[in-house]
Amino acid sequence: MGSSDAGSAAPELLDPDHDPAASYALDQAHVRRLTGLLTASSGETKPSISPVNGQPLGHVPQSTAADVEEAFRRARKAQARWARTSLEERSAMFLRLHDIVLRRQDEIMDMICWESGKARKHAFDEPLHIALTARYYARTAEEHLSTKRVAGVVPGLTRVEVNRVPKGVVGIISPWNYPFTMALCDGLPAIMAGNAVVAKPDAQTMLSALLGLELLHEAGFPEDLWQMVAGPGRTIGTEIIERADYVCFTGSTATGKVIAQQCAERLIGCSLELGGKNPILVLRDADLDRAAEGAVRAAFSNAGQLCVSMERMYVADQVYDRFMAKFVERVKAMRLGVGLEWGHDMGALISQDQLDTVVGHVEDARAKGARVLTGGRARPDISPYFYEPTVLEGTTPDMRCFGDESFGPVISVYRFHDESDAVARANEGQYGLNAAVYSRDTRRAREIARRIKCGTVNVNEAFGATFASIESPMGGMRDSGMGRRQGAEGILRYTESQSVAVQRVLRFAPMFGMSDEQYARFMTRSVALMTKLGRK
Ligand code: NAD
Repeated sequence: MGSSDAGSAAPELLDPDHDPAASYALDQAHVRRLTGLLTASSGETKPSISPVNGQPLGHVPQSTAADVEEAFRRARKAQARWARTSLEERSAMFLRLHDIVLRRQDEIMDMICWESGKARKHAFDEPLHIALTARYYARTAEEHLSTKRVAGVVPGLTRVEVNRVPKGVVGIISPWNYPFTMALCDGLPAIMAGNAVVAKPDAQTMLSALLGLELLHEAGFPEDLWQMVAGPGRTIGTEIIERADYVCFTGSTATGKVIAQQCAERLIGCSLELGGKNPILVLRDADLDRAAEGAVRAAFSNAGQLCVSMERMYVADQVYDRFMAKFVERVKAMRLGVGLEWGHDMGALISQDQLDTVVGHVEDARAKGARVLTGGRARPDISPYFYEPTVLEGTTPDMRCFGDESFGPVISVYRFHDESDAVARANEGQYGLNAAVYSRDTRRAREIARRIKCGTVNVNEAFGATFASIESPMGGMRDSGMGRRQGAEGILRYTESQSVAVQRVLRFAPMFGMSDEQYARFMTRSVALMTKLGRK
């Protein structure tokens, strides 16, 4: 693929005369009802700034350390009652939540678009993910949480069962990029397992998270079961970690390491869903149209501000030129814009900070010799923090965007000659969150997937196939995290296992006048016999 500069071939604007600010105004009475759900008494407020137009959407009261203390007090009280409710009752509430989320989907998407600046089709993923998560845990609660009989040491005489006991109050610290689903999806299995939650969503997107809390109340969950506080991560986040019985964190690897240390100090468990530098592999037998379409979604969903989005692409030599022609053409045809309507293929970045990072990465790469095949410009004419979808070629290890997460709409494309080399390069660096492999031979693609050190690998899809399959665990290897959301692991992490054994007749001590030595021999012979009989 030859080098060309981006400026001349800017992607199309959906409607250049469209004024997004005119199309929607947040109902301030609703904003006050939402912020009234917070435990926050400092008297200070922080504006939630919309990336659509840089204007405040509402003012969010800020919490103090005493508010966090009060949130935990209420949550603990609610948890004691909640732990006595039946799984059937909890499941019914989860299915009600599922219905409410689907019914109020438009309103949820409006709020997300308005508060995060993302395109409506990317906002759509959020209520959908919550509906799928609520349904999955409603339908599998029994399977995961019911008491299980396990083999006792002496068949028939030792009856052992394992209970799943809730941890207590779970602290949830979540980011801004998927502000509705990230605020809710990890707390749902926590409450299904009998815990209460104290949550601190990111300060930039509190209203979307609070809308989620309103829906939980509408579904019938006890009001105090899920507390929400607001404030800076460093202070309010730390106050949560100091009181929680378990912490679920989603955010950057740097913050995740700090939180892991704080949890270790208190000997509490934590799960950490962190960053990535995710690779996509296009093998020589790939369906190139399908791969080009998937690569656009892989790199530019939510303007690349997605933990599982792709920032590196390795394309087989044999198909490189043909694939790149298709891919770049699709990127150039993307419809860019902000606002509430359908039809945009990519929306804005969340903030000036995020824009600065992306500009920094691209300018650094350009200055060191990378070629910008399309994109490469901020677009303040669309909205304050907008950046074009950008494709780079010739990225080298000395460039920041080679190994660092850009968390923006920037993908570097590389050629590969043989597949082992592609796998080795996909495994470079310290991250290990998500990968994608495009090939018509899905058996071979699955074999390659096993060699990639990532928590999820999608074949012939970008990220949705694993992420939306709620029964499959989702999370990162290496610096991309610890623990998993979704599936059995996603709920069992919020429980302690408790083994209860009832011993009948035979005691674990000499009987019938045996000496200690005779008892030891008897036990040894019994164990050897049971091994012969195939006992585990
Ligand atoms: P961040 O780590 O700066 O902030 C995330 C959350 O942690 C926010 O609520 C913040 O207030 C809080 N926080 C910050 N410092 C804290 C501290 N010292 N103690 C306690 N809480 C603290 O992350 P970010 O940059 O806002 O989010 C983007 C990052 O999140 C990216 O790296 C992205 O890959 C990652 N992410 C990962 C997943 C996943 O599932 N693996 C999902 C979404 C985002």
